[in-house]
Amino acid sequence: MVTAVFPGSFDPITRGHLDMIQRASRFVDHLIIAVMVNTSKQPLFTMAEKVAMISAEVSDLPNVEVQAATGLTVDFMTSVHATVLVRGLRNEQDFGYERDIAWMNKSLNDSIETICLIARPPYAYFSSSLIKEVAKMGADVSKYVPTAVAQKLQQRLGKSDQ
Ligand code: ADP
Repeated sequence: MVTAVFPGSFDPITRGHLDMIQRASRFVDHLIIAVMVNTSKQPLFTMAEKVAMISAEVSDLPNVEVQAATGLTVDFMTSVHATVLVRGLRNEQDFGYERDIAWMNKSLNDSIETICLIARPPYAYFSSSLIKEVAKMGADVSKYVPTAVAQKLQQRLGKSDQ
């Protein structure tokens, strides 16, 4: 029984993240989406909001669950008996970043393997940050995020502009 963790800040979850989740859910027994704090990013949504938004989008995937997590990813993985860490690779920039994190995680806990899934077009071309940037300027982002998330973004960014 292989339990995998897909960690991220998911601020907010995008259609690109969901593609990764669907793909990973097909080759592991149990997939835990770990909503984590990225200390180098200022979040727009709270942990609870992100867990609720993601849970609504993955409710049709029986082997996928969502959890809020704090601390080191490898420690969270040990606590849930996960051995596979899933990440997405969109471009060369992601590669350098993911390679360093994968090396560090392996060095912290040798029993954990990182598997990177190559993002496919058009998902490879956008990030949560870029979506927030254009949403702030009034763009319709429902092509990039689920409809319910697009509505949340509109509410949140509309309010903060006033
Ligand atoms: P983090 O702050 O940990 O990088 P993100 O939510 O930005 O969290 O990303 C989580 C994971 O999802 C990362 O491995 C990232 O490369 C991947 N990812 C982000 N956006 C996309 C996308 N549009 N398509 C595929 N993978 C993505």
